[in-house]
Amino acid sequence: MNIHEHQAKAVLAEFGVPVPRGFAAFTPEEAQKAAETLGTPVFVVKSQIHAGGRGKGRFEGLGPDAKGGVRVVKSVAEVRSNAEEMLGRVLVTHQTGPKGKQVNRLYIEEGAAIAKEFYLSLLVDRQTSMVSVVASTEGGMDIEEVAHDTPEKIHTFSIDPATGVWPTHQRALAKALGLTGGLAKEAASLLTQLYTAFLAKDMAMLEVNPLIVTADDHLRVLDAKVSFDGNALYRHPDIKALRDETEEDSKEIEASKHDLAYIALDGEIGCMVNGAGLAMATMDIIKLYGAEPANFLDVGGGASKEKVIAAFKIITADPAVKGILVNIFGGIMRCDIIAEGVVAAVKEVGLKVPLVVRLEGTNVELGKKIINESGLNVIAANDLSDGAEKIVAAVRGAK
Ligand code: GDP
Ligand code: MN
Repeated sequence: MNIHEHQAKAVLAEFGVPVPRGFAAFTPEEAQKAAETLGTPVFVVKSQIHAGGRGKGRFEGLGPDAKGGVRVVKSVAEVRSNAEEMLGRVLVTHQTGPKGKQVNRLYIEEGAAIAKEFYLSLLVDRQTSMVSVVASTEGGMDIEEVAHDTPEKIHTFSIDPATGVWPTHQRALAKALGLTGGLAKEAASLLTQLYTAFLAKDMAMLEVNPLIVTADDHLRVLDAKVSFDGNALYRHPDIKALRDETEEDSKEIEASKHDLAYIALDGEIGCMVNGAGLAMATMDIIKLYGAEPANFLDVGGGASKEKVIAAFKIITADPAVKGILVNIFGGIMRCDIIAEGVVAAVKEVGLKVPLVVRLEGTNVELGKKIINESGLNVIAANDLSDGAEKIVAAVRGAK
């Protein structure tokens, strides 16, 4: 799960991390009030969307010369006029894709005088079961670009959760960022604070870009992007409450309510599959036959009829879906349950696109019988590749 920058900064501040003062604002009036309360000579008006690259992003309908999604201004009046221009507008960045994201909230912050910009992130390294730290003096810009053009400027080391942060890690960070004296000390405590927050809140990734050295020689977290391990959210109700559903795909939200593993994709073939591996294979084979999957969906092992109905409804609600492939290998999952769910769902929401069903395994005969006797216009498939070929052909034919 992702959260907004201002929320991430508030979480980090609980652990003593130095962040600028600021307030979230949903209206120009709130933005103005935030600026008045801050009372600083410089303000930053920051679009809050779940995507990076906001500074270099472009607002739809404002032309190429307009300022981006992060604006440094010098008066309360400018905070207000910029807020009026930004709120409700769609911001396109290299991370949002061409569709962009509507800016529904802003973060009004005190402006910082920047001497240097660094990059610093913590992430789970599954290979070593440790927390990886990535640091670079080349902050403020795309870290992918730095990694590609000047890989020697990226420093990484790992922290073993069994032993935590050691002075060697702290020195490694200071060295990677070229810091000495007081700033090296600040880097040392920052590393401990970030690592403590990372562990305590079950973060999957914590990215600070930029971490800055201020004109008066202090470290400050100027931007923070945090994502959390979804499987650990149950033990962090405070984090769960930060979820902003307007930032998420509505189909994915619906799926999560039914405990379905669903991810929306860009293609035209809706897939309902049991088992993540089979779902991946199904997506691959759809691609092999020249089409693109509209989603990843694993209905799971012991799915109920209700769950299958919910899954089918989510797939059919997607206007991009031009055909549906149901691919079930019944082990724990019974084919008759799937068949009943599909039939019930189609009766409820109708079926406007071709449907190919491939059933195999437990209770397969009963499943096929339910489908055959339902009177539904279903194309039966014998195996995985037959199913993929048939749904791709049906979609092509329908065009
Ligand atoms: P991102 O583009 O989505 O990564 O948003 P950031 O929060 O990183 O902001 C983009 C850039 O705006 C930063 O890299 C800074 O160069 C600049 N910026 C952000 N806050 C301030 C500030 O307080 N003062 C100044 N001078 N620049 C800022
Ligand atoms: Mn940034």
